[in-house]
Amino acid sequence: MTESWRDDYGSWGRVIHASHQVERPSTRDGAARCLTADDRPGLALRPVLGCGSGRSYGDVGLNPGGRLIDCRGLDRFIAFDRTTGILSCEAGVGLADILSVACRPDADGSGWLLPVTPGTRFVTLGGAIANDVHGKNHHSFGTFGSHVRSLELARTDGSRLICTTNDHPELFAATIGGLGLTGLILSATIQMRRVSGLAVEAEDIRFDGLADFFDLARESDEAWEYTAAWIDCTARGRSLGRGIYSRARHVAGHGAEPPKLRPGIRIPLVPPFSLVTRLTVPLFNAAYWRKMGLRRRSRQIGSYEKVFYPLDAIGEWNRVYGPHGFYQFQCRIPPDVMRDVVAELLGLIATSGQASMLSVLKLFGPCSSPGMLSFPAPGATLTLDFPNRGVSTGTLLGRLEQVVVQAGGRLYPAKDGLMQAATFQAGYPGLSRFLPYIDPGFSSGFAKRVALIAEAG
Ligand SMILES: Cc1cc2nc3c(=O)[nH]c(=O)nc-3n(C[C@H](O)[C@H](O)[C@H](O)COP(=O)(O)OP(=O)(O)OC[C@H]3O[C@@H](n4cnc5c(N)ncnc54)[C@H](O)[C@@H]3O)c2cc1C
Repeated sequence: MTESWRDDYGSWGRVIHASHQVERPSTRDGAARCLTADDRPGLALRPVLGCGSGRSYGDVGLNPGGRLIDCRGLDRFIAFDRTTGILSCEAGVGLADILSVACRPDADGSGWLLPVTPGTRFVTLGGAIANDVHGKNHHSFGTFGSHVRSLELARTDGSRLICTTNDHPELFAATIGGLGLTGLILSATIQMRRVSGLAVEAEDIRFDGLADFFDLARESDEAWEYTAAWIDCTARGRSLGRGIYSRARHVAGHGAEPPKLRPGIRIPLVPPFSLVTRLTVPLFNAAYWRKMGLRRRSRQIGSYEKVFYPLDAIGEWNRVYGPHGFYQFQCRIPPDVMRDVVAELLGLIATSGQASMLSVLKLFGPCSSPGMLSFPAPGATLTLDFPNRGVSTGTLLGRLEQVVVQAGGRLYPAKDGLMQAATFQAGYPGLSRFLPYIDPGFSSGFAKRVALIAEAG
């Protein structure tokens, strides 16, 4: 196992770069040993954190100045029962690998599929559990953690526990969505989902304003398993909240091969300036809104790849934001106020001159999340990307945050780089239940920033 100081671990938004003492274990035993000083007498261990593929936009998977255990070497499949769909893997296995190994179509097009997947397949199993990620089918299948049957957790006191809803149930619920702070996930067992056809029927519907979005969501949530809308953040007045509503569902008898393990093309280098500017964002938004030409609706049957993972087509797309990177902001607004509050947020963005290029609006469903700190809950979730322009971007994000707090909403740690401690504390009522399960040897940039743990020294 190698252990060295490295400066190349940063946030996916490329705003935060930090120096870490990195270890890359290749076995579960080796990973568990990284947590204790037993085989390294005299070594005072710094606070530690596990990390996966680094696809979190902010500092939730970073531990600046501390130790980072990069779990991608824990990449073994342990067992897959093709009759029941129960899959056990080490924590560093990627969702792309799971799709490739376990999700091939049978002769009739049916097959096993990840029950829930985020908008990128290039995340690890451990990362998906630690952020209790959600996908476009939240309203039908809840969060990733709802499908975790057990997980193996190593802690700095030397313990190694199998956690389920029956064994160590509180630690299980703390670890799902626990931001990596309860210990190191070594492996997990999940229940895959059987679909009658791996291919999907997908529809895009252009709509003219926010009221239409809510009508489409109400109409679609019953019959369409995957739903989300792209919003044109530059639109104002009567067009405020216009966009394209995308919905999809599996089609019996139609198979689809798993997507590739790597993107076909990649952005080769970081340009000296951001390609996402005050000029290009409105141009992009206007062009995207008209992508279907004169048609208001398009329909196709094909692979789920384009529906689930549009951004995965281009590797390292985060580089287009240039040397200063970008912030992502994802909030959840409670149902009773969501119409007014989403309109208020979009209005603030449209008048700020800092429109977001990739803005996604979705309604979360009623499925409760198993984790004490899971982000999803009923209501609307709005996701936005902003190039980092320094103070003006921070000011805008601060205003959006205040609106979310006043609405009784919350921000998503996996997407966050600036949230105030008070916002986190107000947004997560499960926090007091969670605190006792933090492993005292663990820390992260996020945990310190929102006062989940105290700054050392
Ligand atoms: C293009 C794109 C689209 C996305 N779409 C969505 C989406 O639709 N829904 C959604 O919910 N998220 C989404 N995300 C966010 C992403 O799914 C999460 O941030 C995910 O947790 C990243 O996993 P990772 O393997 O990269 O882990 P990292 O980002 O490296 O780490 C994430 C967290 O997991 C912890 N962790 C990682 N491995 C372990 C381990 N073995 N043991 C304990 N803790 C561990 C880390 O400490 C950290 O807290 C998206 C991200 C991108 C880049």
